[in-house]
Amino acid sequence: MAPIAIQSASEYPSTDLKTRFTKSIPSATSTGLTNAGIKHTNDPEPQLSKLDASKLVFERNTSPKALPEPNSPEVWAQNVCTDHMITCSWTSSTGWSTPNLKPYGPLSLMPTASVLHYATECFEGLKLYRGYDGKLRLFRPDRNCQRMLTSATRVALPAFDPKELQKLIEVLVATDGEKWLPKSRPGSFLYLRPTMIANDDHLGVRKPDEALLYVIACLFPSFDTGRGTAALDANPALREKERPGLKLLASKEDTVRAWPGGFGFAKVGANYGPSLMAQGEARAMGFDQVLWLLGKDCDVTEAGASNFFVVWRTREGRLQLVTAPLGDKIILDGVTRKSVLELARERLGGEVEVVERKYTMCELEAAVQEGRLLEAFAAGTAFFIASVSKIHFRGEDLEIPTGKGDSGNYAAVIKTWLHDIMYGQEQHEWGVIVEERQLNA
Ligand SMILES: *Cc1c(COP(=O)(O)O)cnc(C)c1O
Repeated sequence: MAPIAIQSASEYPSTDLKTRFTKSIPSATSTGLTNAGIKHTNDPEPQLSKLDASKLVFERNTSPKALPEPNSPEVWAQNVCTDHMITCSWTSSTGWSTPNLKPYGPLSLMPTASVLHYATECFEGLKLYRGYDGKLRLFRPDRNCQRMLTSATRVALPAFDPKELQKLIEVLVATDGEKWLPKSRPGSFLYLRPTMIANDDHLGVRKPDEALLYVIACLFPSFDTGRGTAALDANPALREKERPGLKLLASKEDTVRAWPGGFGFAKVGANYGPSLMAQGEARAMGFDQVLWLLGKDCDVTEAGASNFFVVWRTREGRLQLVTAPLGDKIILDGVTRKSVLELARERLGGEVEVVERKYTMCELEAAVQEGRLLEAFAAGTAFFIASVSKIHFRGEDLEIPTGKGDSGNYAAVIKTWLHDIMYGQEQHEWGVIVEERQLNA
């Protein structure tokens, strides 16, 4: 199977594209993947079409938007998307239809659509980076596509081959990357949002028979300066006096984000809407994010929509990087989390023990009081690696050291490693290069 063959509905010669995309996806040809499902003669199931990026139909946007300035109010509004989007529909009787790359624009849904009533939705968040070497890169997109499959099937949305989703993402960014992440702005990024919704038009509470997969690319501000935004919004003068770093408000006893047997591990919309009240309260009190605790022992889980790490010394004097484990399906399996763990094991191994285990707010509090807590940070695509300087827990402020400058020391080191891979200063298999298409070529 050709890795990407665009069924060209425009001026693009498909052979030309084929070569370009073959270059951009070196692994695709080696997968030996085929979408031609095997049909047995006595197979009672109708043959359903698989998601197949090679069938993509291209419709060019003839009224493209102007590109906003970096850090402009439009960028902070987080609602400006690029000129194109990918869409692909699915039904339980036919499977996946032909994917489209077409002008960004509104979707049409019936008021009875399943997603609007039963939260049959999942999404992904990853970034497209403009490297200092002029190249476009995705960071471990295979992890996001695999996780999207996990999330989709958790809420009865259809399965698909994650490699095909990755190819669709690559076509979108190859198309819009040149204009929306200009070479003149190295070190910048776009935020990509693959999404799936069930759009059946009936109110029956049942597994959906229709779904829509789409991928959009959005301008996004940089949140990873190490300075939170909430307190700054509330009172800029105050922020001048305060130490940099995120300020977290520990969740109250009556509020949980995720629980054993639930779906905290899945990136499904149902996890986020119900957390917004707590987030709003935290913001109003001058905090940046909620630190989500669970159970009567106050297990530390995640910070906002980021994974959470601490670096402490045990009472026996061992230096440890600690984060909550994935086992109970409470914690989101973050790509940043995984990468932090892998890099720390590989590059800090002799120095720091890397530990995935349950730990409680009491342990964290004791480490702060005994001067054993060295740093804490949040890790995720949106906030990248952001040091935490304060945690408010049951009426008490825990001051967390942030080391030199805006970041703690280990957070700063790991952040630099990841940053270098994302922006091409270190050549690494996690940084997947995408060749761009010249729209006017
Ligand atoms: C998306 C997300 C993360 C971070 O995952 P990344 O893959 O690193 O972006 C962490 N926790 C929650 C709850 C999330 O939704």
